[in-house]
Amino acid sequence: MNGNRPSGTSRLALSDPSLLSSRALVGGDWVDADAGGTCEVTNPADGTRVGTIPDMGAAEARRAIDAAHAAFPAWSRRSAGERAEVLGRMHALLIEHQEDLARLMTAEQGKPLAEARGEVAYAASYLQWFAEEARRAYGDTIPGHAADARILTLRQPVGVVAAITPWNFPSAMLARKLAPALAAGCTVVAKPATQTPLSALALGVLAGRAGVPAGVLNIVTGRDAAAIGGELTGNAKVRKLSFTGSTAVGKTLMAQCAAGMKRISMELGGNAPFIVFEDADLDAAVEGAIASKFRNTGQTCICANRLFVHEAVYDAFAARLGDAMAKLRVGDGLAGETDQGPLIDGKALEKVEEHVADAVARGARVAMGGRRHALGGTFYEPTLLLGATPDMLLAREETFGPVAPLFRFSSEDEAVALANDTEAGLAGYFYTRDLARAWRVAEALECGIVGINTGRVSTAVAPFGGVKESGTGREGSKYGLDDYTELKYVCIGGIRPGTP
Ligand code: NAP
Repeated sequence: MNGNRPSGTSRLALSDPSLLSSRALVGGDWVDADAGGTCEVTNPADGTRVGTIPDMGAAEARRAIDAAHAAFPAWSRRSAGERAEVLGRMHALLIEHQEDLARLMTAEQGKPLAEARGEVAYAASYLQWFAEEARRAYGDTIPGHAADARILTLRQPVGVVAAITPWNFPSAMLARKLAPALAAGCTVVAKPATQTPLSALALGVLAGRAGVPAGVLNIVTGRDAAAIGGELTGNAKVRKLSFTGSTAVGKTLMAQCAAGMKRISMELGGNAPFIVFEDADLDAAVEGAIASKFRNTGQTCICANRLFVHEAVYDAFAARLGDAMAKLRVGDGLAGETDQGPLIDGKALEKVEEHVADAVARGARVAMGGRRHALGGTFYEPTLLLGATPDMLLAREETFGPVAPLFRFSSEDEAVALANDTEAGLAGYFYTRDLARAWRVAEALECGIVGINTGRVSTAVAPFGGVKESGTGREGSKYGLDDYTELKYVCIGGIRPGTP
């Protein structure tokens, strides 16, 4: 199942060029849009064309749903072990093609190559984890309510799943949905972000090689997200929507799903607090802040967005963070070793500029950066802002850029109140060496994910998800499979004592 027309720049230099697809995947066939239209995928580092994808709409989405619906009975009836083997093969293929997949991702997304390699390994880890979890979709037996009754529960696949994913983690966000869905016995219609669809299509190529049957995974591409999303949320054959993206779009899709009472998982935007208490190991806090703040040029949902620093260590932390930031290498990930790539597009650049200008107008001081990078395009300098305050735009919204604003606080209660003063509730981080404080603050933070003395929290083995307006549902871990299954209760009556 591979009818790709290789395209794109020679700079990509893939050892397996068939991973670069210019067609979408519907019912096991690689297809163009009905009307033949295409969208260009460009490299945010230099604006060059990486490839093209079909510009599809509702009609193609409907056909993909029909294909997924037709494939569901056979796939869901396979044994868990058989499904696990397919996922296991897909995991191995991702690892085998890690370098090509990473180059493709850096080309369409802009992240440093080392980060792209890490994301491919992270995506693969979900396939491995859920290959293992597929065999453990256990039900229960429950002591019956009557002497002649027996009660048990079954976990059954929800059916056709629609998966809509964002541009910032083009492989991992799809793998995090695809792996549990397929493990549970569901079939999938995926719609990747239009800016970064090539990584998703490459996963589609590898899924075919791994033995994922025709129709079990479908990938629809196109710039009319509202039309495709309207079909995915309005079609009665789709039983669940799993969405990762902005809170605004998540709310729209949640409302659309209400009419058909579809199951939903929503992984939405964050506004992570990063608290440095006076008893913190400052070097560790700086290392964690760099990892959390500057990964993917600050374009992650769990990025430290607001850094709260106790007044007793504020100046020392600011100085050490500035020293570490000065070492960040900014550049095109395909051109050499880099730590920070470009922002995804001009709109993202304008938002960062708006946040910095607003902060400065409200009294923040630029200690480093604060302007576009000399490389031009959408490159922005790693930026350190001192004297940030809660009235600034960057305190209320995700900046989604390489900007570290330092807020000052003087007590634990104040830090927790500041951290929780947001509608978002995805990740939160803090640094302390006080065990009692570690418990108190972990329990008090209104977040789905808490990192204590670490800025790195993403792993397939832990439940990932938010509270408040950051969404609902959990991906990864032993809980991740539940979101793709229905719990059925079976009551058996009339079990009376027999005569020997
Ligand atoms: P976005 O604008 O919400 O787009 C996400 C996806 O939704 C894309 O595939 C997009 O398609 C599609 N979409 C947009 N409008 C739609 C509509 N009306 N109906 C159906 N689909 C629609 O978000 P983004 O800018 O790509 O991603 C950044 C956001 O994702 C940030 O807020 C970030 O925090 C969040 N995020 C959250 C997590 C998490 O796990 N909680 C992880 C990563 C990112 P097009 O590309 O075609 O517009």
